[in-house]
Amino acid sequence: MKAELSQLIALQQTDTTILKLQAELNAIPQRRADIEKEFEQRAFEFRAIETRRDAARAEHARLEAEIAETRTKAGHADRALMSSTNEKEYAAAIREADAARKHISELETKVLEQMEALEGAEKEIGEHAPQIAQLSAELEEKLKAFEEQTRTQADQLTTLRAERERMAAELPKPLAAMYNRISTRIRGGVAVAEARNNSCSACFMSLRPHVMSQVRLGEEIITCDNCNRILYYVPAEQPQQTTAQSAK
Ligand SMILES: [Zn+2]
Repeated sequence: MKAELSQLIALQQTDTTILKLQAELNAIPQRRADIEKEFEQRAFEFRAIETRRDAARAEHARLEAEIAETRTKAGHADRALMSSTNEKEYAAAIREADAARKHISELETKVLEQMEALEGAEKEIGEHAPQIAQLSAELEEKLKAFEEQTRTQADQLTTLRAERERMAAELPKPLAAMYNRISTRIRGGVAVAEARNNSCSACFMSLRPHVMSQVRLGEEIITCDNCNRILYYVPAEQPQQTTAQSAK
C-alpha cells in the first residue's frame, strides 16, 4: 500500500500543477487586456496631444480650401469689374471683390492660428516622443514575454496531462476510481491530503488517535472523516520530501 500511496501523492501533485497552469492559461485574455490598458492609461496625455494636432491639421486644410475657393470668387469679381458696362454693374463687382478679399484676409489669420496650434502640438509630441517610444518598447517587450510564457505553459500543460494519464493508468483501478471520485467532488480537486500535527491538512479537522496511527502505518487507504480526502503521513525526519518533488 505504501507504494500506491506514493503514486497517489504524485498524481495529486501533478493534478494540482495542472489546475494551477490551467487557471493561469484561462486568465490570459484578461492579463493581456490589463497590460494594454495600463499602456493606454500611461499614454493618455500623449493621445490627447495627437488628437489636438490632427484637429489643427484638418482645420488648416479646410481653411486653405476655402481660401482657394474665395480667390476664385475674387477673380470672377475682378473680371466682372473689367467688363462692367454701367455704374450699377461696376459697384456690384467692386463690392463683391472687396468682400472676397476681406474674407481671404480673415481666413489667412485663422490659417496662422491653426499653424501655431499645429506647431505647438508637434513640439509637444516631439518632447513626449522619447517617453512614448520607451512606453511602446516596454509594452512590446511585456507582450512578447507574456506570449513566450503562455507558450511554455501550454507545452507544460500538454506534457503534464500525458504524464497524469500515465500515472493514473499505473494505479490499481479501484484506487484510481476512488481518487477520481474524490477529486471531482471536492472543490479545488485535491483528493489527497497530508495528515499533519494530528489533523487533516486540507480541512484542518483533528484526527482520532486511532485514525492517525493507521495513517502513519500507511498499510491501507485511510480517508478523513470530515472531508473524505485520502490521508498520508510524511515522517518527521524528512517532512519536505514528498512536497518538494514536484514543486514547480
Ligand atoms: Zn479532511
